[in-house]
Amino acid sequence: MLTVPRQFNDGLVLLLATPSGSKLLESRALDNAIGVSNVDLQAYGSAIDATTIHLGSMRLSAANQACVLAHELTHCLDFTFLGKRLDELTSAMIGASEINAHYNQGLIAKELSCISGLEDTWSNMVQQMNRGNSTFGRMFDAWTRDDVYSYLSSTKQYGRHVEALRQSKILYLWTRDDQWESGNTMFHCEAHLEANNTAGPMHSVWG
Ligand SMILES: [Zn+2]
Repeated sequence: MLTVPRQFNDGLVLLLATPSGSKLLESRALDNAIGVSNVDLQAYGSAIDATTIHLGSMRLSAANQACVLAHELTHCLDFTFLGKRLDELTSAMIGASEINAHYNQGLIAKELSCISGLEDTWSNMVQQMNRGNSTFGRMFDAWTRDDVYSYLSSTKQYGRHVEALRQSKILYLWTRDDQWESGNTMFHCEAHLEANNTAGPMHSVWG
């Protein structure tokens, strides 16, 4: 299972405490995943390849850490599925994986808010994160992939990537949200979509 630098330990514990987070962490593709501290990183996290995520040195609450880990691990799963590293992805692929990663980040935020018996300090962290107007709070409020797409299309960082996705793969954005799930595994990733669509029009969407 994922190993993380010490400052992300609490976030990993919280992620494990959520249903979707624990499923995500159990993914075979993430058996050898490692989180590496990167003090130069100008972001909370960055997935480099299928098993490596870089984590920035900004101080984050455990709740935010859990969401960052879920976000970056989603990219790792997509990299495994696509057989590519970050620097090999097309703009449309980046757009697709960012929708998955942001959706899952919001899913974890929602699940964190539902854990009963969480210590007060931690549940306060969760509430503070989810009420905020940063990406964390915005994803807590996003209930569908379309909500996530709309948010990302308005951002400087991701707008052009989700636009590239929309222009090149129109069917992709019309696909039902649950096509990115797998049974009771609620988090979204490209591997789930492929498994659900082997006979449908979305087959080999990245072929
Ligand atoms: Zn991302």
